[in-house]
Amino acid sequence: MDCLFCKIIEGTIPSKKAYEDDLVLSFYDIDPKAPFHVLIIPKQHIDSAAKITPENSSIVAHIFEVAAKLAKEHDLKDGFRIVTNCGEQGGQTVNHLHFHMLAGRNLGWPPG
Ligand code: 5GP
Ligand code: ZN
Repeated sequence: MDCLFCKIIEGTIPSKKAYEDDLVLSFYDIDPKAPFHVLIIPKQHIDSAAKITPENSSIVAHIFEVAAKLAKEHDLKDGFRIVTNCGEQGGQTVNHLHFHMLAGRNLGWPPG
């Protein structure tokens, strides 16, 4: 399958890793939108949040455990944001489920 993030998981496209285990990979975004900006992705290919089912939803809980671990490791005590863009109007550009974790500045709300 021609999926950029599957290639990052395979290692055919390099990335700067923040965390890895059997189920997920976290790596630094190539075009950071905040001083701290990592992506957390399942190793299993899932297109987007719209494809979460009872069979695969446990990965989402695991991703949030990893986010909390990263927040602790990187001392993000002033807060952070986790966001997943889904579909065209949601601003998704890579069709492999990913959670952005952003920190290190005041993040605007609502999003533009
Ligand atoms: P989306 O726009 O789908 O929510 O997020 C995709 C993210 O992937 C963007 O923030 C973009 O900067 C990041 N990205 C795209 N290509 C690469 C890449 O080759 N390496 C890394 N590390 N990040 C990428
Ligand atoms: Zn993929």
